[in-house]
Amino acid sequence: MSSNGMPLPQGSTAATFAKALDELRAIVGREHVVAEPERLASYNKIMLPVPDEQHAPSAAITPADVEQVQAIMKVLSRHKLPVYPISTGKNLGYGSAAPVRRGQIVMDLRRMNRILSVDADLCTALVEPGVTYQQLYDYLQENKLPLWFSCPAPSAIAGPLGNTVDRGVGYTPYGEHFLFSSGMEVVLADGQVLRTGMGSMPGSNTWQVFKWGYGPTLDGLFTQSNYGIVTKLGMWLMPAPPDFRPFCIQYPDESDITKIVEALRPLRIAMVIPNAVVIAHTLWEAPCTPVQRAQYHTGPGAISDEAVDRIRKDHRIGAWNVYAALYGTKETNDANWKIIEAVAAASGGRIVPAEETKGSKAVEYRFDLMKGKPNLGEFGLYNWRGGGGSMWFAPVSQAKGSETLKQMRMAKSILAKYGFDYVGEFIVGWRDMHHVIDLLYDRTDPAEMQKAYACYDELLHSFAKEGYGVYRASTAFAEKVAATYGPVKRDVERRLKRALDPQNLIAPGRCGIEL
Ligand SMILES: Cc1cc2nc3c(=O)[nH]c(=O)nc-3n(C[C@H](O)[C@H](O)[C@H](O)COP(=O)(O)OP(=O)(O)OC[C@H]3O[C@@H](n4cnc5c(N)ncnc54)[C@H](O)[C@@H]3O)c2cc1C
Repeated sequence: MSSNGMPLPQGSTAATFAKALDELRAIVGREHVVAEPERLASYNKIMLPVPDEQHAPSAAITPADVEQVQAIMKVLSRHKLPVYPISTGKNLGYGSAAPVRRGQIVMDLRRMNRILSVDADLCTALVEPGVTYQQLYDYLQENKLPLWFSCPAPSAIAGPLGNTVDRGVGYTPYGEHFLFSSGMEVVLADGQVLRTGMGSMPGSNTWQVFKWGYGPTLDGLFTQSNYGIVTKLGMWLMPAPPDFRPFCIQYPDESDITKIVEALRPLRIAMVIPNAVVIAHTLWEAPCTPVQRAQYHTGPGAISDEAVDRIRKDHRIGAWNVYAALYGTKETNDANWKIIEAVAAASGGRIVPAEETKGSKAVEYRFDLMKGKPNLGEFGLYNWRGGGGSMWFAPVSQAKGSETLKQMRMAKSILAKYGFDYVGEFIVGWRDMHHVIDLLYDRTDPAEMQKAYACYDELLHSFAKEGYGVYRASTAFAEKVAATYGPVKRDVERRLKRALDPQNLIAPGRCGIEL
């Protein structure tokens, strides 16, 4: 413990830590080094089923520019202190702004929040870590630029750089965010600055338009890893289409999920539907509608199928609710709309008419997300159970109907064993499918916390046994998730860590990677 009661970084003493903090203050200014417990509280607000102390930071530092990040790394190297970089710090359900390990210093990049360039002809942007999606949206609106981007559900407060380096996803045709990025600037553990792709070429103006450069493509190394601190990100913007036609198709039975995926995958792969197809279960829609859980279920245990059925009928929610959109001209969308109508009819779906979608909170936030309009509509999920506990379980599979029911039944039965509801959605990304489950629980109840931890553990290992790996994981389960991917990959990751960060300074333990 340091003198203020906060944990010390591993291997450090109170005296060396205090000296290091003084050196850091000299770089960024006193007010930008946070070491008081009350000011550090926001960096320790987690939703995970483990005690806060497990992810308590020792301090936080907020640099203003790349040069300060470089200078900070020199100090941390001299004192062998670990740092956990965050951008907008809204990795909610995956660890929020808290470090992966107790005692790491959070490097909060929120003050580096400049939109460095937007090229309206090439439809590209270059942003710093602290830029939020809302900020970028406002910039495009204010400058009357007819450009869209893809954002995740908590977009109003989250940002493109942090989301992309954690390989997050969104809902426009550019929804695979890392795929639609072009060029990174990275401060390495030794303080050197690397620009990936064409960014390394003196005099080049192609950093944001050609991802690959020459030789190995390095960008991926800086996603879901701890090999560097990303200080700039190039991203592609999408020209606003002349005609945007979002739609919702409802299906009445849980077992319909098989045919939904079979019906829509070909349209997604052929890009008739150019964005990810979201297939949300009743219990994802209900909290965002909003429906009160207490009106349908009280007492312990998971909500019954019978109660879920009543929610469907009372609130006109489908067992599955499909969200996607057409992007094009009126003529191309008119032609493709006929295909959507035919596929919906053949697969037993009901296209929700416009007069019903208007005013529906659950539908409207989805329609906004599909045009890259930031909002916080999905936060309705947290009113379902209350208590602030949430962790995402998101296994990946082939986008085939045969993968769905099996996965849903496995998940439902494991969740119910621990008393939790199945709040899930399938997302047909392209050829892949993410099965996203929000494990919601009451964080104020220690027994429920323990159950949530055990439940996630069982989900992870039962799915891994069937060959399903998760695409992303919380800091509490980083090590266990990494272990499901086998030893050779981990050995290579460790060797890369040794080469790029031999002192183990940057986020040791993130995604299970350390020396
Ligand atoms: C209701 C709800 C819905 C959600 N829906 C989605 C969704 O649709 N899609 C989705 O992708 N996510 C979703 N999330 C999860 C999460 O909130 C978002 O992904 C969010 O964008 C991540 O937070 P951020 O953008 O502030 O990134 P940060 O929290 O800043 O960064 C994420 C992680 O990346 C690493 N990192 C960040 N910056 C750097 C850097 N500069 N250098 C090196 N490493 C860095 C850190 O380990 C950090 O913890 C949802 C969360 C909630 C609560």
